[in-house]
Parts: sequence; C-alpha cells; structure tokens
Amino acid sequence: MPADTCPHTVADDLHPPLAYTHNGLDRAAHLRPDTRALLEQPEARGCLLGGEAVAIGADGAAFLPATAARLWSRGRPIFLGMQDDMPHFAFSFDPARQEEMEGAGLQVSTLRAIAAEGLAPSGVLGALASAKALLAWHGRHRYCSNCGTRTQMTDSGWRRDCPSCGGQHFPRTDPAVIMLVISGERCLLGRSAHFRPNMYSCLAGFVEPGETMEDAVRRETLEEVGVRVSRVRYMDCQPWPFPMSLMLGCLAEAASGELTLDPAEIEDARWFSRDEVEQMLAGDHPQELFVPGAEAIARHLVLAFMAGERA
Ligand SMILES: [Zn+2]
Repeated sequence: MPADTCPHTVADDLHPPLAYTHNGLDRAAHLRPDTRALLEQPEARGCLLGGEAVAIGADGAAFLPATAARLWSRGRPIFLGMQDDMPHFAFSFDPARQEEMEGAGLQVSTLRAIAAEGLAPSGVLGALASAKALLAWHGRHRYCSNCGTRTQMTDSGWRRDCPSCGGQHFPRTDPAVIMLVISGERCLLGRSAHFRPNMYSCLAGFVEPGETMEDAVRRETLEEVGVRVSRVRYMDCQPWPFPMSLMLGCLAEAASGELTLDPAEIEDARWFSRDEVEQMLAGDHPQELFVPGAEAIARHLVLAFMAGERA
C-alpha cells in the first residue's frame, strides 16, 4: 500500500511516522540536574534554533558538534537527551545573525520546511520539535506567574525557578483537538484566512480548562460551523511545536448537516464528497483545492475517512 493511502500513523518500513511524533533521543531525565560535564564531552551535539529558523550544517545534519553550535548561541543550552552515548543539546541563536551564519557555511531553514520536504530523519525531527517547543516556552515564561520576579532556568532547561517566592514552573504543552467531521459519505473541511490559498483542512481548536477532548470537538465544531456532533473517536496525536501544542486527532459524526459559519473563526467550510476528496489528495481537483501534506495529522484523518474509518 503506498504511504499516502495508509489510514493510520503507526510507523513501519513502508509508512514513516507522522512528523514530530518520533523522538530518536532517550530523554534521560535523570541526568537533567547537572549536565555541565556532558556539554563538555567532545561527542556532544547541538541543534541551533532561532524562533522559526533552524540552522543546518553544510553536511545537512541538524545536530552539529556542540562546540560549533555554541559559537552562535545565546543563553544557556537545553539538554534534550542521549543517543548512542552522545549528549544532545538545543541552542538558541539570534535570527538577526542568519546572514552571518550562512556566510560561515550553515544553511538556515524552518522546522515546517524541514518537515514538509523530508529533510531530516523522523527521529531528528521529533528532537527538533522538542527543542522548538522548549525554547518557545522559555522565551514566553521569563517571569514568575506567582509574583512577577524574573525566573531562572534550572534542570538543564526543564524547569524555571523563582528566587523570590520559590515557585517552580514546568514547560507547558497545550492540548488542542483537530477533527474530521463526517456525515455519511461526506466530510467537512474548512479554511482559515491564514491558510495557503486553496488549502482546506480539518477544523481545530484548543481544549478549554475543565473540558474533555470529546466536548472540545463538539464545542469547536458548533462554534465554527454550527454543526452538532454526536460520536467522537480518538485516532492519533501529534506534537505541534507552533508554538507548543499537542494535536489530538479525532473522527466525529455529524448529528446535523446545515453549515452556519462564524466569519470570525473561519473563512470557509464545505461538505466534500469522497470523489472530491480523492481529487484533493491526488492534486487534480478542478478548482485546485488541496489538503495539507503528509507531515500534518489532518491529512492522516482524511486518509482514514477515505479508508472507511468512522467515529
Ligand atoms: Zn515567584
């Protein structure tokens, strides 16, 4: 079966794992309290991220010798884990130095481009996703949410401590639902204003405090398109480090069909027949409509629908 018809995200030889779902590193959390000696080891490796940008070595590797990565870094590195006795770290660089870095032989890309173009092995992509989400969290949580004092990175980047009130702050992951709503042989796809032109995808939204995943699917669908959802079935999840979400992929059964769009939330949404979805997957839709690429869980949900899966 070609990879593009695989209904699931379970990886095997024929089907590479969904982007960002496989981290090739052993997180080795027991080493986090003190990684200074690991950082000094000659075999230590480091990736370099600056906001959306990722620096890649001239040889195409996203992890460089840590000594080389350090030349461009600002702030303290984060310990990501071990692979074959090699400690791996994440370094942050100033995106304003991009030209200088390219002049020194590094290529600068983005995590999305690396995922979409398959430029890194899946285990590396997962480690980069961890690095990006962690660096984004540090960038946004420099002050204590209890008392407002500036916090300090501890545990090799896996915690921030407040020297004033003693508060300990841990990296966040924000759960979000992404759902393909199905009515008989049709599925519901929509688009936001920030999507690439002609791209339609699954509906999505953040889980709210005190809400189940299933109710988040029902609420978001009702808010965005006015459709009531009955059954909800969890399929797969995908870390989505933009900046730090976990996408919970579900199939949902529509209990009503008429669409009432909320223009503040969504630009367009429609019911698509199997034939039309087939064309969108194949890239030969008459209006050139298409669905997200294989790196996104949305496509995997659409493929599950095409394979006959239901909520
Ligand atoms: Zn505090």
